[in-house]
Amino acid sequence: MEIKEKQKKGMYESVLEQFDKAADTMNLNPNIRRILAATNNEIVVHFPVRLDNGDMEIFTGYRVQHNNALGPYKGGLRYHPTVDIDAARALAMWMTWKTSLAGLPYGGGKGGIMMDPKKYSIGELERITRRFTYALGDNIGPEHDIPAPDVNTNAQIMAWMADTFMATKHPSERSKYGHVVTGKPVGSGGLEGRDRATGYGVVSTLKAWAEWKNVDLKDKKYIVQGFGNVGQWASVFMEELGAKLTAVQDASGTIYKEDGISPTELLEYTKLNGGNIVGFPGAVTIDNNLFFGLECDILIPAALGNQITEDNAGVIKARVIAEGANGPTNPAADEILKTMGVSVIPDILCNAGGVTASYFEWLQNRNGEIWQMEDVIMKLEKKLINAFQKVIKVSEEFNTDLRMAAYIVAIQRIELTYRERGVFP
Ligand code: NAD
Repeated sequence: MEIKEKQKKGMYESVLEQFDKAADTMNLNPNIRRILAATNNEIVVHFPVRLDNGDMEIFTGYRVQHNNALGPYKGGLRYHPTVDIDAARALAMWMTWKTSLAGLPYGGGKGGIMMDPKKYSIGELERITRRFTYALGDNIGPEHDIPAPDVNTNAQIMAWMADTFMATKHPSERSKYGHVVTGKPVGSGGLEGRDRATGYGVVSTLKAWAEWKNVDLKDKKYIVQGFGNVGQWASVFMEELGAKLTAVQDASGTIYKEDGISPTELLEYTKLNGGNIVGFPGAVTIDNNLFFGLECDILIPAALGNQITEDNAGVIKARVIAEGANGPTNPAADEILKTMGVSVIPDILCNAGGVTASYFEWLQNRNGEIWQMEDVIMKLEKKLINAFQKVIKVSEEFNTDLRMAAYIVAIQRIELTYRERGVFP
């Protein structure tokens, strides 16, 4: 099977398998199980965009809205060749569990465009984004479905989306619609600290894990897959703890430096090198296949889904995996890692800092407030630690790993809502 195909298929299968296992373990009500196994809405749009050379290209965009029992759908938009309906379904379901576990008043959605953004100019990306927003129309909205950045989408893309969405509304109403997306630049209603929130959350949950396990993170070696928003910021916060980054992998290749890579210097280098890490002075480029088997204490996958599978889990040397990415580990790999005694801090807990800060941005916009960085970080930490402690408690109660416990905490909250409210009619 082609790698791209395997990755897409794997994510949807993984999320369903994880859900089934959690539903069995917690003895979930069968009716609620049926509801949560399906997605509420699946929107596919085809839209034309004029390229710089005058040709028209037809793009395909997706938005899957999995569940909104707890509040509006929430989740990122990704621009990547692997985006399709199954990838969007899988990622939307993970968002439902993540927002529930984090204690937010949101459901789960996800989507994006099947494309390689590197092939397009800035002007083309702006037109693609604006036309996609227009095609989605009122399928998104500040009280209905609120997108955010994900792989290959950033604050600039969110600013174009907000502007386009607002432009379609009556002038007297436009200011009510700025929170249709989160992850905007600070000058356009964005939140101080939203940029670093996911990476900060990854390191916060890792610190909570280390405290729980009585492990000192100082001088520990860590390796990171993906050096985009999540990978960069997680590395920066790990450096602050005194841990040592020895290898990084991104779409351009894998670099290794035994005596440590400075995340801040690497970040500066990538800005001059088209976002790529390869060629970083002092580091050697090694074969991509060697990455997961490198000697280290901590592994932070922060790129795409289905990267740690039965094919490579056995070579992992890390004692703990902090899942910055969504769905980086498939269920077969989870089983192997368990027998090897490797702890996994699951994605829906580990990378929830991003959506939690998105919630703060949404509140800030909705209430006409401007929050300070210190308040954001303090509130973020509190929410994440609260979720972490609930997961630990349930993992002890049900005698499960952290992933199953995280699923159970998330699903219990949604189950309670359905029990209280019932199902119309
Ligand atoms: P990004 O686009 O900023 O960075 C993605 C990184 O992954 C880049 O360094 C890219 O080179 C690398 N990459 C792509 N293909 C790769 C491959 N085949 N092998 C190795 N590296 C590869 O994206 P991001 O926002 O940092 O998101 C990364 C992951 O974190 C995704 O799984 C995303 O869903 C998840 N996530 C992101 C956020 C957020 O706030 N941005 C929040 C929660 C979860």
